Amino acid sequence: MLESPQGTRVTVDGRDYVAFCSNDYLGLAAHPELIEAARAGAARYGVGAGASHLVLGHSVAHHELERQLAAFVGQPRALLYSSGYLANLAAVTSLAGRGDAVFADRLNHASLNDAALLSRAAFRRYPHLDITALERLLSASRARRRLVITDAVFSMDGDIAPLPDLIELCERFDAWLLVDDAHGFGVLGRTGRGALEHFGVRSQRLIYMGTLGKAAGVSGAFVAAGEEIVETMVQRARPYIYTTAMPPLLAHVVQKSIELIEREDWRRGRIKELIIQLNQLVNLKRWRLFRSATAIQPLVIGENAEAVAVSEALARAGLLVPAIRPPTVPRGTARLRISLSAAHSAGDIERLASALNALQ
Ligand code: PMP
Repeated sequence: MLESPQGTRVTVDGRDYVAFCSNDYLGLAAHPELIEAARAGAARYGVGAGASHLVLGHSVAHHELERQLAAFVGQPRALLYSSGYLANLAAVTSLAGRGDAVFADRLNHASLNDAALLSRAAFRRYPHLDITALERLLSASRARRRLVITDAVFSMDGDIAPLPDLIELCERFDAWLLVDDAHGFGVLGRTGRGALEHFGVRSQRLIYMGTLGKAAGVSGAFVAAGEEIVETMVQRARPYIYTTAMPPLLAHVVQKSIELIEREDWRRGRIKELIIQLNQLVNLKRWRLFRSATAIQPLVIGENAEAVAVSEALARAGLLVPAIRPPTVPRGTARLRISLSAAHSAGDIERLASALNALQ
């Protein structure tokens, strides 16, 4: 159990570690300005939201944050959710139903898969990043409405979906594209606006989902899209309608967090430096470090037992890196999911690399 704040220096069950397993990519989760914003937010709004958005839960803090997020990612309107899981359920089930078809990358996050199943639309999965296979499926589809769903940054591999190609296909085949940027928001793009900024893309066909509990360091998520899509979610999305709003004080904190994401751009630069350093220092014989330009650096080991043994050996050396096994990742690709944070030091990376080099 974690006994300290989230960060790169953590105390778990009474022992101190350097952690490489948090999604707090920018090191904002315990940022003094966010802690101060939480104090001010609690003083102004209290602690609980008390009701769902459509009843009495929608506060001015939510309203302002939604406007800020929409402007930040360049979409007409944004809608807040209590988590990314709920945001995906909401977006998919309000946009696709019986008689429609959902097309999904095989390595998408579980929440997108669950959402597609819950929607009752036909669910077609294409091989990871295989645009040609997706094109074939779309051209053969006679569904009333077509929705393509993809992680922008794949959570266990750290690779990035080819959004320009996906947008082109969706425009050609009259399909919607839902992009889950849980791991890109705050990290990708020059000013941290995420995968859309990274590629410099825009499209009327695009629905953008970002989470606020990872790089943003707080909690919650949002879906940003055109006015009509967002209004459809307000009217129809059960994970929006039938759940208590995120505490307004958190919406207040996220406003400050978005400011920090934009202002403290050295944090994104730092992650880039750490990726280069890790790749230079790790000297692998049997294992493989996936090429990834994001904070997620997977070290593929293969067999479950070996991945667990390596993770345990690292833990004994004071380094926390979890072993991820099937079914979360494909069989035979058990791995250490190393996640880097702007709060890591060069010394932390050196320690991790030399421990890994000594273990093979
Ligand atoms: N999408 C992806 C790609 C994720 O990795 C996650 C969280 N691991 C989610 C959605 C869900 O977000 P949340 O944790 O806010 O529910």
